[in-house]
Amino acid sequence: MSDLSRCPVCAGDRLERLVTLANLPTLPNAVCASASESQAMPRGELALELCVGCGHLFNSSFDPSCLDYDARYENSLHFSAVFQEWITNHAQDLVTRHGLTGGLAAELGAGSGDFLDLLVQAGMAEGRGYDPSYSAERVAAVENPAVTMRAEFFPTDGSVQAQLITSRHVLEHLEDPVGVARSLGSALAEGGVVYHEVPNGDLMVRDLALWDLIYEHVSYFTQSSLRELCRRAGLAPSSVQAHFGEQFLSVEARGDASAPNEPMVAATASELDAARAFGDQVRSQIDRCRAELGLALEQGPVVLWGAGSKGTSYLNLVDADAAAAGAIDLNPRKHGTFVAGTPHEISGPDALAELNPATVLVANPIYLDEITEQVHQTHPNAQVTPIW
Ligand SMILES: [Zn+2]
Repeated sequence: MSDLSRCPVCAGDRLERLVTLANLPTLPNAVCASASESQAMPRGELALELCVGCGHLFNSSFDPSCLDYDARYENSLHFSAVFQEWITNHAQDLVTRHGLTGGLAAELGAGSGDFLDLLVQAGMAEGRGYDPSYSAERVAAVENPAVTMRAEFFPTDGSVQAQLITSRHVLEHLEDPVGVARSLGSALAEGGVVYHEVPNGDLMVRDLALWDLIYEHVSYFTQSSLRELCRRAGLAPSSVQAHFGEQFLSVEARGDASAPNEPMVAATASELDAARAFGDQVRSQIDRCRAELGLALEQGPVVLWGAGSKGTSYLNLVDADAAAAGAIDLNPRKHGTFVAGTPHEISGPDALAELNPATVLVANPIYLDEITEQVHQTHPNAQVTPIW
């Protein structure tokens, strides 16, 4: 049983409640077959706490028993050309810059193995993905003989020594990210590199990107809290960087047994002020978005493009009664299903003809150009606007 009365990164107990959001669907990426199934989704409370020690943000009401990562879980970004280009170049850069050619990559929570596939294409000899809930029947692995997906816990008994240990968008889901990061480090080969990537909590705070608040995420890492995680996990970061329109925060690190003896990484005053300002503005921002949606609806039908976690948060917090006509998503596995928690049906871009939107709301600003171009091919007069 976890104890989220303390910071899951630095274990500090100086916490400030920034905002409480009730009734969020606990699985925003779940695939719901009907509007009634979607409405019946389990819901939970998000109590966003600021750790005054390390600046970490986390949900102290998080209850893992509300989550059930089953066959209905679908959150692949790999259908977007913008994402594909970034992740391909990023894998190549990691392998080249750290001299990882010919080495073994081991990934925690590797999905279909897409990232391992790219690492192998970039020159690594082998990729192994570890996820005890992995099922080949449910998730088709990439077709690359050098990449294997294993329904096993990540080996921390020394039986695997990898040149690269990686996780992408895993640590923010865990109640004990420090303990997991520490145990992964035990599989690191001499001179090997650790790469962890998480959503960028600094960007969420700075840009008032409140749609990034989702129940599945225990944690919202900042530059400081990601460095503090490394220190406590016995890792020495060589870089902490924002990527992909600053939406992701990554750390590259090497094992360093003396790291925990270093002084704690403390949040700066400006980080704490920014987090408090974010908490103060969440409610008024939701009200503003409701008013803007009302004005847009006066011009004609409104659809939301992007039924991932951001779009799902927006629809749950702003349009729970489904005044908007529906949601568009490129992922064919979502077509004909419903947004978790609301009655909006998800369709492919072909449905634009029938929906005939006057306004297309874009859930993720990084896809604004890609989506605007596609919408204007058939609806040149539609307004295409990001949701913040
Ligand atoms: Zn902390």
